[in-house]
Amino acid sequence: MSRKISESTLVIASHNPGKVREIADLLAPFDVEVVSASEMGLDEPVEDGLTFAANAEIKARAGTEGSGLPVLADDSGLSVDALDGAPGIYSARWAGPNKDFDLAMQKVEDEVGDATNRRAHFVCALTLAWPDGHMETFEGRFDGSLVWPPRGDKGFGYDPIFQPDGMDVTCAEMPPEEKHRISHRAQAFKLLVAACFK
Ligand code: IMP
Repeated sequence: MSRKISESTLVIASHNPGKVREIADLLAPFDVEVVSASEMGLDEPVEDGLTFAANAEIKARAGTEGSGLPVLADDSGLSVDALDGAPGIYSARWAGPNKDFDLAMQKVEDEVGDATNRRAHFVCALTLAWPDGHMETFEGRFDGSLVWPPRGDKGFGYDPIFQPDGMDVTCAEMPPEEKHRISHRAQAFKLLVAACFK
């Protein structure tokens, strides 16, 4: 049985305002006040886990130690079958210091080369951690295939080369509301809400 959140304030362990806003929107129906790691003046920990879940747990744990409040953290990325799961937890790093996702998508395409298997999936791990050390972690997955060249100008990151199963558009060609309804993040959230929110 998962622990339910009963506290009135929840810290989002992210310094990315876009992500904090998206998570705050998803939590709006629940009776909890959301504050960001930046508002709490929390440092960003070193993400040296070897899985999405491990990195989400590192961020959540660091947040509870710094704030004394319950903390929600996420970690996500693109996993390509033909590359044994790469870029995976290194998805952000493949874009380099300038966060250049044209470069990152080109690198994925170059490494996949002429492999016939173009299957890929996004993963999102979400961890809710409490100051007493208890943690609950949930994972969402979004399956699809890689396309080339990139298509669409909506979304972010690897969206222009990712076409979800059963669709003929990439994530960068669909309205953001549609992506938010079916994405790896949405799926992880559904599990989190069902388990930990009343
Ligand atoms: P992080 O979870 O903030 O560490 O981000 C991981 C990286 O994974 C992002 O910078 C993106 O490159 C990639 N990523 C995660 N989710 C998505 C998505 O929904 N679309 C496109 N790229 C994504």
